[in-house]
Amino acid sequence: MASSSRLISRLALVTGGGSGIGQAVCQRFASEGATVVVADLNQDAAEETVDALQRGQKGQRGQIGQGHMAGQVDVSSKDSVKKLITQIQTRYFQPPSVCVNAAGITQDNFLLSLEEEEFDKVIQVNLKGTFLVTQAVAQALVACGASKGSIINMGSIVGKVGNLGQANYSASKAGVEGLTRTAAKELSKFGIRCNCVLPGFITTPMTDSVPDKVINKLLTLVPLGRMGEPAEVADVCAFLASDDSRYITGTSIEVTGGLFIG
Ligand code: NAD
Repeated sequence: MASSSRLISRLALVTGGGSGIGQAVCQRFASEGATVVVADLNQDAAEETVDALQRGQKGQRGQIGQGHMAGQVDVSSKDSVKKLITQIQTRYFQPPSVCVNAAGITQDNFLLSLEEEEFDKVIQVNLKGTFLVTQAVAQALVACGASKGSIINMGSIVGKVGNLGQANYSASKAGVEGLTRTAAKELSKFGIRCNCVLPGFITTPMTDSVPDKVINKLLTLVPLGRMGEPAEVADVCAFLASDDSRYITGTSIEVTGGLFIG
């Protein structure tokens, strides 16, 4: 639950905001005072998130407020991303100063059977999509002379340690960390910070399809002994979006319940 209003007067773009972690980030940001652009491939899901923000969440404190926007985007398409940024600037007369790249997919298969299309698709959405949105937001911020920005990219602990059946996904997430560190170096002179969040196993539609047997086995590796909640990832994103993290850039923060420590 939000304990402050650190994001008042911030405009935040959240991709993948129609579901899971992205949706929780939208709720947390709005509850801290941000105006949120909820962007998703699934327009209906993005609109549902905006509706929920405008109704306010049961039991939630802080400012939820009006003025949020739903946008349809395919992050793997440069044209689609450009269109979204134009729509945002037309509506708000400014680019988003906070951007969370949470859109992502899995297409799992063991390496020996992994199809080229399965590899390409996951790289296109998770890695190229993060590049396209990061680049478009940074270009817009630099062009308007903004003095600060915070870009937060959703990696995964799997990008560091690998995972059975996820050669494509783990490669895409390792790529997101490299992209983020380079963006941090290049964009710091414009006041734009770039960081990664590396979730472990979080309860969302993405992990719903993982068989209970596999989940139970994985949980034996989690010192805190349970899956994470999307809100627990959103808490870290709110910190990285806010000035509380003003001296932090180019880093990755693990939100894993201790999975794979040391
Ligand atoms: P989710 O499936 O609940 O949400 C992903 C959202 O991304 C969906 O709303 C989907 O419509 C959207 N999306 C998919 N392709 C898109 C595209 N081309 N353009 C725009 N939007 C698109 O998944 P989640 O678990 O909330 O995952 C969010 C992010 O966190 C992803 O990047 C995922 O890889 C990462 N992550 C999740 C976990 C986990 O355990 N759930 C762990 C580590 C990392």
